[in-house]
Amino acid sequence: MSELLLNHLAGRAQAGTGHGTALIDPVLGTEIARVDATGLDLTAGFAYAREEGGAALRALSYAQRGKLLDAIVKVLQANRDRYYEISTANSGTVKNDTAVDVDGGIYTLGTYARMGESLGDRRHLLDGEPASLAKGGAFQSQHVQVPTRGVALFINAFNFPSWGLWEKAGPALLSGVPVIVKPATATAWLTQRMVQDVNAAGILPPGALSVVCGSSAGLLDQLAPFDVVSFTGSAETAALIRSHPAIARGSVRVNIEADSINSALLLPGEAAGSEAFELLAKEVAREMTQKSGQKCTAIRRIFVPEALYAQATDAIAARLAKTTVGNPRNDTVRMGALVSRAQLAAVRAGLAALKQHAEVLHDGATHALVDADPALACCVGPTLLGTRNPDRAKLVHQLEVFGPVATLMPYGSMEEALALVRGGGGSLVVSIYGEDPRWIAATALELADSHGRVHVISPDVAQLHTGHGNVMPQSLHGGPGRAGGGEELGGIRALNFYHRRSAVQASTAVLTAF
Ligand code: NAP
Repeated sequence: MSELLLNHLAGRAQAGTGHGTALIDPVLGTEIARVDATGLDLTAGFAYAREEGGAALRALSYAQRGKLLDAIVKVLQANRDRYYEISTANSGTVKNDTAVDVDGGIYTLGTYARMGESLGDRRHLLDGEPASLAKGGAFQSQHVQVPTRGVALFINAFNFPSWGLWEKAGPALLSGVPVIVKPATATAWLTQRMVQDVNAAGILPPGALSVVCGSSAGLLDQLAPFDVVSFTGSAETAALIRSHPAIARGSVRVNIEADSINSALLLPGEAAGSEAFELLAKEVAREMTQKSGQKCTAIRRIFVPEALYAQATDAIAARLAKTTVGNPRNDTVRMGALVSRAQLAAVRAGLAALKQHAEVLHDGATHALVDADPALACCVGPTLLGTRNPDRAKLVHQLEVFGPVATLMPYGSMEEALALVRGGGGSLVVSIYGEDPRWIAATALELADSHGRVHVISPDVAQLHTGHGNVMPQSLHGGPGRAGGGEELGGIRALNFYHRRSAVQASTAVLTAF
């Protein structure tokens, strides 16, 4: 029987008392480990995190907490090879895709470590300037931000077991708030192993970092008024979380990162083969195939001027055709697997539904698998769909197929293009391709209200830009509407979620003591 992975709760490693749920290698179909949270005393675990972990973290300054993050970075770097192996076995990723998760997580954590240093030896933050409340200014109001005295519960999605942990834990721990993470079951191993390594290194105070692997049953019932929940996953689960009685009763602060039908938009005035046109084709192919399209930020809809529809089809399809798909252990393979049979079935069902509204421009089924048994491996080739009637193909703007699938669409006027992009109902990111800075800037502002991030790819930054789907810690991650309405990262803004803002009204002498 495979290894039963340990939970870390109440300052110690704990095994579940049940048989456990098997984690499966999505390429080979073999069982690689089991997770189980049966029988854990969640009430004691949450109390320990709040009382022991929280108190110890709050006693430290931002600079001291930043040093802890820096020490975690070193532990993760030291164990990086093992994380790559786990990712290959549990997530079916090729090295470049593992890097996005593992190295992206380490980089994000390092960014918050440095931020701690720059915040210095303080244990609270001032928010704005004092505002006078009385004649002469001797009685004033000063807003302060102090760490919340609860736990941060992370319920994470399966696609980023490393980055999804550290992009949240960095800001939380830096703020002085203890973390309990519940990774998605299918790919829980990497999160579990990282938490185990960090706790074994004795860097953090006991109770500062916990992991519960397996069922989510009972976790939300533990939430109390000063806790916060950060959820990443599907809109359906997000709705359950928002309406949970413990969350409603205690006004527990919730951040939701849900699914998103992100767009790429080529501005008018470009010729086929122009630099901006080629940059679009390259980025679309990269976004569709990176992590087998299992990125919440991946491009799902592509809008090009009507006259370029056929040429854009050819340019994107030519790039997709070069993608080798199969076993990530084979060096010739560029795209690995989906994470599970369940995801494979969901992608096939979603693709079948979209095909009712769109034609197939490049068929993923034409990609023979390299070194992988099609009967066992959760691999699919990239499929480009297209429709000349984007207004009528409503489903294309509504259904997120969480795999290597995107739909190309032509537009007539700029007004029509903007309306189609907004038709995603609120997205994490849109990328704009063109050359005229003034036009691009105006378009970016037009789309900023419906997108958490607007990524512009113009020829002058062709070699510099960070990628449509790459989430940088310096920039906001999250989007309005169906994207969940959440906000993460954005540099120091990320700390707001883990702090409470309060207005202190007092004499100038008291406020000066801050
Ligand atoms: P999911 O089914 O909603 O699961 C997400 C997490 O919620 C998992 O840890 C899952 O645990 C847990 N969960 C399931 N039911 C729950 C319940 N009743 N109460 C509490 N927790 C519960 O989503 P998924 O299919 O794993 O993730 C894919 C989706 O995530 C995609 O739609 C993608 O767009 C979205 N996503 C968004 C972002 C973003 O930043 N916006 C990032 C990544 C992914 P189990 O695994 O144990 O069921």
